[in-house]
Amino acid sequence: MVKRVPITIPTEPIGSIPRPPGLIEKVAKSDSEDPNLTPLYEDAIRDTIERFEATGSPVVTDGEQRKYHNFATYCVHGLPNTAPDGFKIPFSDGHTRRLSRLTRGPFRYRRYADSYWDVAMRYAHVPVKQAVISPSALSLMYPAESIQDYSREQFIEDLLKEHETEIRRCLKKGVHKVQVDFTEGRLAVKIDPSGHLLSSFIDLNNLALSRFAPEERRRIGVHTCPGNDLDATHSADVDYAELLPSLFELRAGNFYIALAGERDRRHALKIIGKYRKPDQHIFVGVTAPNDPRIETPEEVRDRVLEASEYIPIEQLGTTDDCGFSPFSDDTSTSRDTAFAKIRARVLGTKLAQRLIGGHL
Ligand SMILES: [Zn+2]
Repeated sequence: MVKRVPITIPTEPIGSIPRPPGLIEKVAKSDSEDPNLTPLYEDAIRDTIERFEATGSPVVTDGEQRKYHNFATYCVHGLPNTAPDGFKIPFSDGHTRRLSRLTRGPFRYRRYADSYWDVAMRYAHVPVKQAVISPSALSLMYPAESIQDYSREQFIEDLLKEHETEIRRCLKKGVHKVQVDFTEGRLAVKIDPSGHLLSSFIDLNNLALSRFAPEERRRIGVHTCPGNDLDATHSADVDYAELLPSLFELRAGNFYIALAGERDRRHALKIIGKYRKPDQHIFVGVTAPNDPRIETPEEVRDRVLEASEYIPIEQLGTTDDCGFSPFSDDTSTSRDTAFAKIRARVLGTKLAQRLIGGHL
C-alpha cells in the first residue's frame, strides 16, 4: 500500500468582518477619531477575534473594525490636504463610493496599518495577518489636472515610500502575512479595456514589491476580487482572462483570488493553472460574502478538490472571496453569517485536506 504523505492546505481570511451595529451607529453620529469611541472599537476588536478563533480559523484578522471608513482610505483618512470628491467607484446595483482627492503635496500617510495589528495582538492566540491598500489604488488620489508645485512623479515617489514603510513596519513586527488589497485590478480593465491602465497598475505595484527581498515577498500577498459592497460588485462582468495573466506578473509570494462567486470557476482555474509561477501560493476563494446563503463544508471541500485539478497541492490554499464588509457601514451581511461562512471554509478545507493528503 502506498503511504500518502500528510499535507496541510493553508486557509486565511481576507480581512473585514461586519462591525457591530452599535459601533456603526456611533461612528455615523460623531467623528470616527472621537476618543469616546475607543472603548467601542476595543470591544469590537476583542469580540471579533474571539469569534474568529472560535471558528477554528488558523489565521485571523481584527476584522478591520477600526479601518474607518473602508479598506482603501484608512491610511489617509483625516488628512488636511484631501477633499472628498475623488475617484468614483461605480457598483453593479447603481450605487457609488468615492476615494478622496489630494489637493496639495506632500503626500504622507496619517497612520500605518501595523497600528491595528498591535491592538489585535492584545487579544489573539493564533497568527494575525494584516491587509494594506495597494499603491495603485492610492495613485487614483492624484487629480487628472495635476497639482501645482507637486508633480505626479513626486507624488508616486512619496506614495511608494509610504507603502514600503507600512509593509516594513508590519513585517518587522511579525505579522503572519501582509496582504496588499488590489481590488482595482479587474476594475482597471473595465475602465480602460485597452489594458493600459491595468499595466500601469501592475508596473507601479511591482516597483513597490521589488523593494523587498525574496524572503520578505514570501510573506507578502495580493488580493484580487470584483469588488464587494452592499452585496454588489464593480467588475464581475470583466472576464478574468483579462486580469489573471497580468496578475501573476506581480512579484508577490501569495495570491488571494475571489473564485466562489464566479459564474465559471473552471474557466478562471484554467487560466490560474496556466499563468501561476512555481514560487507563488494561490489561495482560492471558497466562500462568497456577496451570497447570503451559507456554504456547507462539503461544498467548500468540493471547491478545493476542483481547484486541486489545476493548482499543485503544494501551492494551493483557501480563503474567502473578499472581506465581509470592506466599507465600514455595510450591513448587508451580519456578523453571524460572516463567521458561519468562515467556519464552513475552515471545515471544508480540512475535509479536502483529509481526502487529498491522507490525514486521518
Ligand atoms: Zn475583495
